[in-house]
Amino acid sequence: MSKETQSFGPPTPCIMCEKALAYLEFGEEKAKFEDCINNANNFKIIGGYGSSFDGFVYEAVVCDDCMDKLIQRGKVQVISYME
Ligand SMILES: [Zn+2]
Repeated sequence: MSKETQSFGPPTPCIMCEKALAYLEFGEEKAKFEDCINNANNFKIIGGYGSSFDGFVYEAVVCDDCMDKLIQRGKVQVISYME
């Protein structure tokens, strides 16, 4: 994957289905906002004390289709809503 291709989407695909994802574009300049992914979300995994990954911070992406399945199967819970 070329560096130019990577700049259009997150560096990793959906962790569930491996679908490639793209950042949204905004405004007349079509600037890409790296935290805004089209039909997907990114999240952090923070290795805590007791884990072999203690001290490491990871980022992953899950697409909306897979997120919906995870919620329906009770593997992801809503804990709050931000407006
Ligand atoms: Zn997916």
